[in-house]
Amino acid sequence: MKRSLFDDVHEDFRASFRTFLAREVLGEEGRYGEWEREGIVPREVFAAAGRGGFLGMAVPEAYGGAGAEDFRLNLVIGEETQRAGVGSFGLGITLHNDICLPYFLSYCTEPQRERWLDGIASGELITALAMTEPGIGSDLAAMSTSARREGDHYVVNGTKTFITNGINADLVILAVKTDPSERHRGISLMVVERSMEGFERGRNLEKIGQHAQDTAELSFSDVRVPIDNLLGQESEGFRYLVSNLPQERLSIAASAVAAAEAAIGWTLEYVRERQAFGQPIGSFQSSRFTLAELHGEAQIARVFVDRCTQALNDGELTAEDAATAKWWCTDLQGRVVDRCLQLFGGYGYMLEYPIARAFADARVTRIYGGANEIMKEIVGRSLGL
Ligand SMILES: Cc1cc2nc3c(=O)[nH]c(=O)nc-3n(C[C@H](O)[C@H](O)[C@H](O)COP(=O)(O)OP(=O)(O)OC[C@H]3O[C@@H](n4cnc5c(N)ncnc54)[C@H](O)[C@@H]3O)c2cc1C
Repeated sequence: MKRSLFDDVHEDFRASFRTFLAREVLGEEGRYGEWEREGIVPREVFAAAGRGGFLGMAVPEAYGGAGAEDFRLNLVIGEETQRAGVGSFGLGITLHNDICLPYFLSYCTEPQRERWLDGIASGELITALAMTEPGIGSDLAAMSTSARREGDHYVVNGTKTFITNGINADLVILAVKTDPSERHRGISLMVVERSMEGFERGRNLEKIGQHAQDTAELSFSDVRVPIDNLLGQESEGFRYLVSNLPQERLSIAASAVAAAEAAIGWTLEYVRERQAFGQPIGSFQSSRFTLAELHGEAQIARVFVDRCTQALNDGELTAEDAATAKWWCTDLQGRVVDRCLQLFGGYGYMLEYPIARAFADARVTRIYGGANEIMKEIVGRSLGL
């Protein structure tokens, strides 16, 4: 089905991002397989993405960005990394652009903008968002990382876990309790910088998928964070999280649909070539029905995600629609990669095949960004239940 979401400017951006991926991630300069084995993307790749104009597109020109507040550009990056089978590289970039940057754009004071935006757009400053703790994930209001005010500093203590870009990050948007006696109303956001004393990173966590993505535990032991690093107003952190989560969830949904489409594409190629009982396996009716079903479901999901993207650009994306997109598209991704892998037979289980990596990478999308059960809570409550 023809898409009406994009203009020429997005297609040009897509073409140059494909060139970037071919050169810096897959081809001559790129060593994606090595990054997957090492569990991390080298920092200089972020800088190369920054030079190419693929980071912080929404950063105003005065601060080194393109001033393009258009989520369609973000979508192109998510789609192309999935299409190229380098989703675990893409996750670090989409986290930086789609998830962390909006906090800096919405809540930074002028001096903070001057300190950080240029580096975020150039890739010199890699960002992360730290909410989850070893003891809490879904129930954010129960977090225990604390920030106690002492003169012109906060003294921060606590531990965060599962933090994407956790090893590479220079700027961590940290969710803390500035008032531990409150739940949601006690949460504030502040930016912790790489060099701050008492801020330590644990090991790069071993995961079943997303192997090129660094995911880490972060610990904060009497870290003195200047009050100038507070993002927005004290105690407003939960409200900020709630207003930014729809974009995060749409980003995950869009990448999920792109991952499903990529898996279907690889599988179509494979079933045309692979022979069994003297004929291509794609010519068996069961294979045709499987691919017809998956193709149809992916197209339907794509239309919903494109419509949500327009709504986001128009400032109208609701929390419920973003939650619906997130749970439905990531469930779909799981179904698609699983059924596609089956059509590859034993080769589908071999990591040298992109479908095997896509299968392992897909599992987490139903968990992070808010587990799918929590998405259904959001939608269910909006129905008055
Ligand atoms: C690879 C990876 C990257 C991540 N990146 C980040 C990051 O960058 N920053 C960050 O802050 N966090 C990150 N996370 C954390 C992620 O967002 C959490 O894992 C997720 O929100 C779930 O929290 P939890 O793991 O504590 O599970 P829990 O909250 O303990 O939930 C466990 C299970 O119980 C279910 N459950 C919980 N509450 C309810 C309820 N009310 N009703 C029904 N079911 C419920 C959940 O749906 C889930 O199935 C990442 C996680 C992973 C695995």
